[in-house]
Amino acid sequence: SELPADPDETNEIRQVSKAVFSYVNPTKPSNPKLIHASEEVAELVGISKDEIHTEEFLNVFSGKEILSQTRPYAMCYAGHQFGNWAGQLGDGRAINLTEVEHNNQYFTLQLKGAGKTPYSRTADGLAVLRSSIREYLCAEAMHYLGVPTTRSLSLILSGDEVLRDILYNGNPAYEKGAIVCRVAPSFIRFGSFEMLTARNELKNLKQFVEYNIKHYFPEIKGEPKEQYLQFFKTVADTTREMILHWQRVGFVHGVMNTDNMSIHGITIDYGPYGWLENYDPNWTPNTTDSQNRRYRFGNQPQVAQWNLFQLANSLYPLINEAEPLEKILESFITDFNSDYTKMILSKLGLLTPSENDAEFIAYLESNLQLSETDMTIFYRNLNKIRKGDSAEKALQAIEDAFYKPEEIKDTIKNNWSLWFADYMQRLNHENTSDNERIELQNSVNPKYVLRNYMAQLAIDAADKEDYSLISELYELLKNPYDEQPEYEKWFAKRPDWARSKVGCSM
Ligand code: AMP
Ligand code: MG
Ligand code: MG
Repeated sequence: SELPADPDETNEIRQVSKAVFSYVNPTKPSNPKLIHASEEVAELVGISKDEIHTEEFLNVFSGKEILSQTRPYAMCYAGHQFGNWAGQLGDGRAINLTEVEHNNQYFTLQLKGAGKTPYSRTADGLAVLRSSIREYLCAEAMHYLGVPTTRSLSLILSGDEVLRDILYNGNPAYEKGAIVCRVAPSFIRFGSFEMLTARNELKNLKQFVEYNIKHYFPEIKGEPKEQYLQFFKTVADTTREMILHWQRVGFVHGVMNTDNMSIHGITIDYGPYGWLENYDPNWTPNTTDSQNRRYRFGNQPQVAQWNLFQLANSLYPLINEAEPLEKILESFITDFNSDYTKMILSKLGLLTPSENDAEFIAYLESNLQLSETDMTIFYRNLNKIRKGDSAEKALQAIEDAFYKPEEIKDTIKNNWSLWFADYMQRLNHENTSDNERIELQNSVNPKYVLRNYMAQLAIDAADKEDYSLISELYELLKNPYDEQPEYEKWFAKRPDWARSKVGCSM
């Protein structure tokens, strides 16, 4: 490799300086069993359908066997967690198997949950089945929603037990262990740069930044300083686009620490993520963040900017000029805001901007929140509205989205009538036909997302060795914008039993 490697080749837990990665072998699982694999992702990286069901596939992607001529490694990185500097973190339970080139694209194949590394700190390097199912399904669902993300190649049971909780009666609660192989151009994070700068390893920082530009951003050319700035600008732009998609589909990451931010602007590290059901910008699926709600839905753009600020700080020693970095950071929010307006208008099927857009959208979002409205169903059902409909008729079209229609106060009903009166007026003035508009709306308003209770049902079944729901959800979520009559039951509000359920981590 062209990058500085850890000279102490042991997987003992420790601080690793003067290196961006450590060689480490996965722990061999005792009895691996394939639960699911993505034929699409396999093909993407050059693995045929038939190869998926071989012993070699099972062994390689469970960490039992190392492919010849490859040398697995874990990466060293740091990060800011919940706003605080956390020092060295690193891949505590992730191991990069190798990089592959296929059809002129580069991919890194990474196992998650394959055992301890020098970066495991106090933890075990393992992953439980439930969190692995959540990551496996959600990454693919996001991909098919058009949201930049890591991909999932395989989900494999390790055959080993993992301890996560001690029950109230003092008994240990063992869970099934699992290994996900995930795929991305690289798994390099903002925290990878922060680590080198914090240790004042400026030579390594420069080498690392140049490596990234050369391998992942070859289009960047020019004087070195110009290149570093361009690198930062590219990361800022792709991060902004990613967050815009999150806000479009109602995804809440839940742990936007700088070590969970990819330099490729892809969604990475699915932990306690969740999807907005009733529209609520203050919602977070992360129970450990329920006080400050730093990573709440409505705060994701601001947090992304804050994280980029940390990345800028870590690149600063190479640039020695604050102003151009600050400019990029400032335009992050202004650009985001104007993109956001356009994005919401597209969800509403409106192509013609208006001076009142900001107010119009704020009023809509306030109504959505006050009347406890399912975000996905609301936007999707706008496709039932036709030009010329009265405000009352339009309101009826989205009624299914209300969680407690009988409890909506008259004042809020009145707000909705006012908003729909405006909306119908704008819709009537659009040049597009109903059909054209509906086609546009259906392409940005998904019908099916991975609601928390859906993942939970798949987890509960898998716990009883029934993996059929994983396959069903996988197939369903491959076409989230299409009508799929056979799967209509998944176009439904969260059931009452799932109301207080939040995402889970670990
Ligand atoms: P996360 O918040 O899940 O992205 O993880 C933060 C840090 O904790 C990263 O360095 C992870 O590699 C590490 N980590 C999380 N879970 C485990 C585990 N079970 N074993 C070892 N390290 C872990
Ligand atoms: Mg992480
Ligand atoms: Mg995690």
